[in-house]
Amino acid sequence: MRSTLLEMLTYARPMGSRAELKFRRRYLLNLPGAQLDTYGNIHVSVGESRVLWSCHTDTVHSRQGRQRVEVSGTIAHLPIVGHHSSCLGADDTTGVYLMREMILAGVWGYYVFHYGEERGGIGSKALAQGQGAWLGRTFDAAIALDRQDTGDVITHQFGGRCCSDAFAWSLGEAISAVDSGLTYTPAHGVYTDTAEYAELIPECTNLSVGYAGQHTRHEIVDLRHVDRLLGVLCDLDTSRLLIQRDPRLSDPDEDRRVLAWEDQWGSQWDTYDEEDDEPLGEPVGADRERQQATIDLLQRLARDQFNARQRRN
Ligand SMILES: [Zn+2]
Repeated sequence: MRSTLLEMLTYARPMGSRAELKFRRRYLLNLPGAQLDTYGNIHVSVGESRVLWSCHTDTVHSRQGRQRVEVSGTIAHLPIVGHHSSCLGADDTTGVYLMREMILAGVWGYYVFHYGEERGGIGSKALAQGQGAWLGRTFDAAIALDRQDTGDVITHQFGGRCCSDAFAWSLGEAISAVDSGLTYTPAHGVYTDTAEYAELIPECTNLSVGYAGQHTRHEIVDLRHVDRLLGVLCDLDTSRLLIQRDPRLSDPDEDRRVLAWEDQWGSQWDTYDEEDDEPLGEPVGADRERQQATIDLLQRLARDQFNARQRRN
Protein backbone atom coordinates (compact mmCIF):
# COMPACT_ATOMS: atom_id res chain seq x y z
CA MET A 1 0.00 0.00 0.00
CA ARG A 2 3.01 2.22 0.61
CA SER A 3 3.77 1.81 -3.07
CA THR A 4 0.42 3.45 -3.89
CA LEU A 5 1.40 6.54 -1.91
CA LEU A 6 4.80 6.67 -3.61
CA GLU A 7 3.15 6.39 -7.02
CA MET A 8 0.62 9.11 -6.11
CA LEU A 9 3.50 11.39 -5.11
CA THR A 10 4.85 11.31 -8.66
CA TYR A 11 1.97 13.58 -9.81
CA ALA A 12 2.83 17.30 -9.54
CA ARG A 13 -0.65 18.80 -9.44
CA PRO A 14 -1.29 22.56 -9.38
CA MET A 15 -5.04 23.24 -9.20
CA GLY A 16 -6.81 22.47 -12.47
CA SER A 17 -3.69 21.08 -14.17
CA ARG A 18 -3.83 18.10 -16.49
CA ALA A 19 -1.81 16.11 -13.95
CA GLU A 20 -4.43 16.82 -11.28
CA LEU A 21 -7.24 15.73 -13.61
CA LYS A 22 -5.41 12.51 -14.46
CA PHE A 23 -4.66 11.86 -10.80
CA ARG A 24 -8.30 12.36 -9.84
CA ARG A 25 -9.47 10.06 -12.62
CA ARG A 26 -6.95 7.36 -11.77
CA TYR A 27 -7.37 7.30 -7.99
CA LEU A 28 -10.62 8.98 -6.95
CA LEU A 29 -13.36 9.22 -9.55
CA ASN A 30 -13.39 5.43 -9.90
CA LEU A 31 -14.03 4.87 -6.17
CA PRO A 32 -17.42 3.27 -5.47
CA GLY A 33 -20.09 5.98 -5.33
CA ALA A 34 -17.69 8.87 -6.05
CA GLN A 35 -19.50 12.07 -7.02
CA LEU A 36 -18.10 15.29 -8.38
CA ASP A 37 -19.94 18.38 -7.11
CA THR A 38 -20.38 21.60 -9.06
CA TYR A 39 -17.48 23.21 -7.17
CA GLY A 40 -14.87 20.61 -8.18
CA ASN A 41 -14.86 18.60 -4.93
CA ILE A 42 -15.18 14.80 -5.01
CA HIS A 43 -17.52 13.21 -2.44
CA VAL A 44 -17.68 9.60 -1.28
CA SER A 45 -20.10 8.37 1.38
CA VAL A 46 -19.49 5.06 3.17
CA GLY A 47 -22.12 3.77 5.58
CA GLU A 48 -23.59 6.25 8.03
CA SER A 49 -21.51 8.78 9.88
CA ARG A 50 -21.65 12.33 11.23
CA VAL A 51 -17.92 12.80 10.60
CA LEU A 52 -16.73 14.54 7.44
CA TRP A 53 -13.16 13.62 6.46
CA SER A 54 -11.33 16.22 4.39
CA CYS A 55 -8.23 16.55 2.21
CA HIS A 56 -7.31 18.39 -1.00
CA THR A 57 -6.23 17.07 -4.39
CA ASP A 58 -4.07 20.01 -5.52
CA THR A 59 -0.43 20.60 -4.61
CA VAL A 60 1.65 23.81 -4.62
CA HIS A 61 3.95 22.65 -7.42
CA SER A 62 4.92 25.55 -9.67
CA ARG A 63 4.80 23.24 -12.72
CA GLN A 64 2.57 20.28 -13.45
CA GLY A 65 3.70 16.85 -14.66
CA ARG A 66 5.31 13.74 -13.20
CA GLN A 67 8.29 13.72 -10.86
CA ARG A 68 10.64 11.16 -9.36
CA VAL A 69 10.39 10.30 -5.67
CA GLU A 70 13.03 8.58 -3.55
CA VAL A 71 12.92 6.83 -0.19
CA SER A 72 15.61 6.86 2.52
CA GLY A 73 14.73 4.52 5.37
CA THR A 74 11.10 5.37 6.07
CA ILE A 75 11.28 8.90 4.60
CA ALA A 76 10.03 9.78 1.11
CA HIS A 77 11.58 12.86 -0.51
CA LEU A 78 12.54 14.35 -3.86
CA PRO A 79 15.80 13.08 -5.33
CA ILE A 80 18.58 14.75 -3.34
CA VAL A 81 20.14 15.90 -6.58
CA GLY A 82 18.74 16.17 -10.04
CA HIS A 83 15.22 17.44 -10.06
CA HIS A 84 13.28 20.54 -11.05
CA SER A 85 10.39 20.10 -8.74
CA SER A 86 9.34 22.86 -6.35
CA CYS A 87 7.99 20.49 -3.68
CA LEU A 88 7.25 16.84 -2.96
CA GLY A 89 3.49 17.40 -2.67
CA ALA A 90 3.02 15.17 0.39
CA ASP A 91 0.80 18.15 1.31
CA ASP A 92 -1.73 16.86 0.67
CA THR A 93 -1.13 13.64 -1.27
CA THR A 94 -0.79 12.01 2.15
CA GLY A 95 -4.34 13.01 3.12
CA VAL A 96 -5.71 11.84 -0.23
CA TYR A 97 -3.95 8.49 0.18
CA LEU A 98 -5.24 7.99 3.75
CA MET A 99 -8.85 8.79 2.82
CA ARG A 100 -8.74 6.58 -0.26
CA GLU A 101 -7.44 3.65 1.80
CA MET A 102 -10.12 4.25 4.45
CA ILE A 103 -12.79 4.11 1.73
CA LEU A 104 -11.32 0.95 0.19
CA ALA A 105 -11.29 -0.60 3.68
CA GLY A 106 -14.99 0.27 4.08
CA VAL A 107 -14.49 2.63 7.04
CA TRP A 108 -17.77 4.45 7.66
CA GLY A 109 -17.50 8.17 7.03
CA TYR A 110 -18.29 10.99 4.63
CA TYR A 111 -15.24 11.87 2.55
CA VAL A 112 -14.62 15.14 0.67
CA PHE A 113 -11.57 15.48 -1.58
CA HIS A 114 -11.43 19.26 -1.96
CA TYR A 115 -10.56 21.28 -5.02
CA GLY A 116 -8.21 24.28 -4.88
CA GLU A 117 -7.22 24.37 -1.19
CA GLU A 118 -3.85 25.81 -2.10
CA ARG A 119 -5.56 28.74 -3.87
CA GLY A 120 -7.49 29.78 -0.80
CA GLY A 121 -9.91 26.92 -0.25
CA ILE A 122 -11.85 27.44 -3.47
CA GLY A 123 -13.75 24.13 -3.28
CA SER A 124 -14.50 24.22 0.45
CA LYS A 125 -15.49 27.89 0.42
CA ALA A 126 -17.94 27.22 -2.41
CA LEU A 127 -19.34 24.13 -0.70
CA ALA A 128 -19.84 26.09 2.55
CA GLN A 129 -21.63 28.86 0.66
CA GLY A 130 -23.71 26.60 -1.55
CA GLN A 131 -24.54 23.76 0.88
CA GLY A 132 -24.12 25.37 4.30
CA ALA A 133 -27.46 24.22 5.69
CA TRP A 134 -26.79 20.62 4.63
CA LEU A 135 -23.30 20.68 6.18
CA GLY A 136 -24.72 22.08 9.41
CA ARG A 137 -27.42 19.47 9.88
CA THR A 138 -25.45 16.48 8.60
CA PHE A 139 -22.15 16.61 10.48
CA ASP A 140 -20.89 16.94 14.06
CA ALA A 141 -17.23 17.04 13.09
CA ALA A 142 -15.04 17.82 10.09
CA ILE A 143 -11.55 16.34 10.32
CA ALA A 144 -8.93 17.31 7.74
CA LEU A 145 -5.92 15.08 7.12
CA ASP A 146 -3.66 17.93 6.04
CA ARG A 147 -1.28 18.93 8.84
CA GLN A 148 2.49 18.73 9.11
CA ASP A 149 4.35 16.75 11.79
CA THR A 150 3.05 13.77 13.71
CA GLY A 151 1.08 14.90 16.76
CA ASP A 152 -1.19 17.92 16.24
CA VAL A 153 -4.95 18.20 16.62
CA ILE A 154 -5.64 21.73 15.40
CA THR A 155 -7.98 23.82 17.56
CA HIS A 156 -7.42 27.19 15.83
CA GLN A 157 -7.16 28.16 12.16
CA PHE A 158 -7.09 31.65 10.66
CA GLY A 159 -6.31 32.79 14.22
CA GLY A 160 -9.82 31.70 15.26
CA ARG A 161 -11.12 28.68 17.13
CA CYS A 162 -12.39 25.80 15.01
CA CYS A 163 -12.91 23.06 17.61
CA SER A 164 -13.26 22.78 21.38
CA ASP A 165 -10.35 21.65 23.54
CA ALA A 166 -12.58 18.85 24.81
CA PHE A 167 -13.02 17.56 21.26
CA ALA A 168 -9.29 17.83 20.52
CA TRP A 169 -8.33 15.90 23.65
CA SER A 170 -11.00 13.26 23.02
CA LEU A 171 -9.69 12.77 19.48
CA GLY A 172 -6.13 12.44 20.82
CA GLU A 173 -7.34 9.85 23.33
CA ALA A 174 -9.30 7.93 20.69
CA ILE A 175 -6.11 7.76 18.58
CA SER A 176 -3.96 6.55 21.50
CA ALA A 177 -6.61 3.97 22.37
CA VAL A 178 -5.90 2.29 19.03
CA ASP A 179 -2.12 2.87 18.95
CA SER A 180 -0.59 3.80 22.30
CA GLY A 181 2.61 4.82 20.50
CA LEU A 182 0.91 7.82 18.88
CA THR A 183 0.47 11.03 20.88
CA TYR A 184 -1.81 13.72 19.46
CA THR A 185 -2.44 16.93 21.43
CA PRO A 186 -4.16 20.31 20.77
CA ALA A 187 -2.19 22.85 18.71
CA HIS A 188 -2.75 26.01 16.65
CA GLY A 189 -2.68 25.73 12.87
CA VAL A 190 -2.78 28.06 9.88
CA TYR A 191 -5.48 27.15 7.39
CA THR A 192 -7.06 24.24 5.62
CA ASP A 193 -10.48 23.49 4.15
CA THR A 194 -12.20 22.65 7.44
CA ALA A 195 -11.73 26.31 8.51
CA GLU A 196 -14.46 27.10 5.97
CA TYR A 197 -16.90 24.91 7.92
CA ALA A 198 -16.16 26.36 11.38
CA GLU A 199 -19.35 28.44 11.41
CA LEU A 200 -21.48 25.50 10.26
CA ILE A 201 -20.12 22.28 11.82
CA PRO A 202 -19.52 22.16 15.61
CA GLU A 203 -16.05 20.61 15.67
CA CYS A 204 -13.62 21.34 12.81
CA THR A 205 -9.99 20.31 12.96
CA ASN A 206 -6.89 19.23 11.09
CA LEU A 207 -4.70 16.24 12.03
CA SER A 208 -0.95 15.76 11.53
CA VAL A 209 -0.29 13.18 8.85
CA GLY A 210 3.52 12.94 8.95
CA TYR A 211 4.82 15.39 6.36
CA ALA A 212 7.25 18.25 7.02
CA GLY A 213 8.84 21.08 5.06
CA GLN A 214 5.70 21.42 2.91
CA HIS A 215 5.63 24.03 0.11
CA THR A 216 9.44 23.63 -0.28
CA ARG A 217 11.86 21.43 -2.18
CA HIS A 218 12.88 19.90 1.14
CA GLU A 219 9.44 18.50 1.84
CA ILE A 220 9.41 14.95 3.20
CA VAL A 221 6.88 12.45 4.52
CA ASP A 222 7.47 9.71 7.07
CA LEU A 223 5.94 6.58 5.53
CA ARG A 224 6.02 4.70 8.81
CA HIS A 225 3.91 7.37 10.49
CA VAL A 226 1.45 7.28 7.59
CA ASP A 227 1.14 3.48 7.96
CA ARG A 228 0.49 3.75 11.68
CA LEU A 229 -2.02 6.57 11.28
CA LEU A 230 -3.87 4.60 8.62
CA GLY A 231 -4.12 1.68 11.03
CA VAL A 232 -5.61 4.05 13.62
CA LEU A 233 -8.07 5.72 11.25
CA CYS A 234 -9.41 2.34 10.13
CA ASP A 235 -10.14 1.44 13.77
CA LEU A 236 -11.00 4.80 15.31
CA ASP A 237 -14.02 4.83 17.61
CA THR A 238 -15.64 8.14 16.61
CA SER A 239 -18.38 7.66 19.23
CA ARG A 240 -15.72 8.66 21.79
CA LEU A 241 -15.41 12.17 20.33
CA LEU A 242 -16.86 14.93 22.53
CA ILE A 243 -18.99 17.38 20.55
CA GLN A 244 -19.21 20.60 22.58
CA ARG A 245 -18.72 23.68 20.47
CA ASP A 246 -21.61 25.77 19.14
CA PRO A 247 -20.53 26.91 15.67
CA ARG A 248 -23.02 29.81 15.69
CA LEU A 249 -21.46 31.53 18.71
CA SER A 250 -18.61 33.88 17.94
CA ASP A 251 -15.31 33.27 19.65
CA PRO A 252 -13.01 36.12 20.76
CA ASP A 253 -10.18 34.39 18.89
CA GLU A 254 -12.06 34.88 15.62
CA ASP A 255 -11.44 38.59 15.42
CA ARG A 256 -7.88 38.18 14.19
CA ARG A 257 -8.64 35.65 11.50
CA VAL A 258 -8.84 37.85 8.43
CA LEU A 259 -5.60 39.61 9.30
CA ALA A 260 -3.85 36.29 9.93
CA TRP A 261 -5.07 34.99 6.60
CA GLU A 262 -3.76 37.97 4.64
CA ASP A 263 -0.42 37.91 6.42
CA GLN A 264 0.04 34.28 5.64
CA TRP A 265 -1.25 33.93 2.11
CA GLY A 266 -1.93 37.31 0.51
CA SER A 267 1.37 37.60 -1.35
CA GLN A 268 1.85 33.91 -2.16
CA TRP A 269 -0.86 33.86 -4.80
CA ASP A 270 1.03 36.27 -7.00
CA THR A 271 3.98 33.94 -7.42
CA TYR A 272 2.15 31.09 -9.11
CA ASP A 273 3.50 30.18 -12.55
CA GLU A 274 1.21 29.25 -15.40
CA GLU A 275 0.85 25.53 -15.88
CA ASP A 276 3.31 23.86 -18.18
CA ASP A 277 2.37 20.65 -19.93
CA GLU A 278 5.92 19.36 -20.30
CA PRO A 279 7.07 16.67 -17.89
CA LEU A 280 9.50 17.94 -15.28
CA GLY A 281 12.94 18.13 -16.83
CA GLU A 282 16.30 16.78 -15.79
CA PRO A 283 18.61 18.82 -13.59
CA VAL A 284 20.91 21.63 -14.54
CA GLY A 285 23.27 20.66 -11.77
CA ALA A 286 23.49 19.77 -8.10
CA ASP A 287 22.20 22.49 -5.84
CA ARG A 288 24.39 22.26 -2.76
CA GLU A 289 22.17 24.30 -0.52
CA ARG A 290 19.10 22.27 -1.37
CA GLN A 291 21.03 19.03 -0.96
CA GLN A 292 22.27 20.06 2.48
CA ALA A 293 18.83 21.16 3.65
CA THR A 294 17.32 17.81 2.64
CA ILE A 295 20.09 15.93 4.42
CA ASP A 296 19.57 18.08 7.53
CA LEU A 297 15.87 17.25 7.53
CA LEU A 298 16.50 13.53 7.07
CA GLN A 299 19.00 13.57 9.92
CA ARG A 300 16.62 15.46 12.17
CA LEU A 301 13.88 12.93 11.47
CA ALA A 302 16.20 10.01 12.07
CA ARG A 303 17.20 11.62 15.40
CA ASP A 304 13.56 12.15 16.39
CA GLN A 305 12.70 8.56 15.54
CA PHE A 306 15.68 7.33 17.55
CA ASN A 307 14.73 9.47 20.55
CA ALA A 308 11.10 8.31 20.36
CA ARG A 309 12.27 4.69 20.34
CA GLN A 310 14.54 5.37 23.34
CA ARG A 311 11.63 6.90 25.25
CA ARG A 312 9.45 3.87 24.55
CA ASN A 313 12.12 1.38 25.65
ZN1 LIG B 1 -2.44 21.17 2.46
